[in-house]
Amino acid sequence: MTIVEALIDLQEVDGRIRELETELKDLPRRKALETARLSGVSADLQAAKAGQDYAQGRVKGIEADADALKEKLRQLKATQMGLKSNKEYQQYSIQIDLVQHELDTLENTQIAAMDDLPSAQARITDAQARFDEQKSGVDAFCAEIDERIAAVQAELAEAQKERAEKAKAVTDPKFVLYYERLRTKRWPVVAALTHDGVCDGCHLVQPPSIGQLADANAKLGEEGKPQRIVACTMCGRILYR
Ligand SMILES: [Zn+2]
Repeated sequence: MTIVEALIDLQEVDGRIRELETELKDLPRRKALETARLSGVSADLQAAKAGQDYAQGRVKGIEADADALKEKLRQLKATQMGLKSNKEYQQYSIQIDLVQHELDTLENTQIAAMDDLPSAQARITDAQARFDEQKSGVDAFCAEIDERIAAVQAELAEAQKERAEKAKAVTDPKFVLYYERLRTKRWPVVAALTHDGVCDGCHLVQPPSIGQLADANAKLGEEGKPQRIVACTMCGRILYR
């Protein structure tokens, strides 16, 4: 195997490692997105519960007001019973009518307020059903993501082992150094020089001398002699034929 072939082998493993690492970064983000969506549904449910608390509180408040009015009526009537003068008696009758009217109005409001209770409960039931449905979906999705994370981590560990093996075959330190330095900036690092003399990495046409060097390099490889680094004049990728 020539040094360039060994480098291409190494690059193949590195390509897989890059993809796995990208996926490993992406998976928790996808999980976080789903979980965030669920917290929106949870907020709807909280709002529906708050709505019910409000509606129940309103009914209780009206009840208390009605009780107070009933007590007031009872007292007015009791006092009226003990009155001697006709004039005072009539004044009390007017007051009693006013309070009675207030109480009637309040009781109508109470009925309307109680009518709101079932719809408040229905909103909770709806929101709860939506939350439960979404949650089971999100839980299943997150479990799948966790499984995938574990699988990717295992694949990655395997690929790292493979890489250590493949790296041993790249015996020329010049090639190793060049490859390692370039691979953070350019990918892939090793690219074919096409028959038209174009770098397959950046697609720039190379001067004829690069084609000659690449051909000579291929020949050196065939003869088992040490190869040189032939690089693209534009992007610096290692070129081979
Ligand atoms: Zn190039």
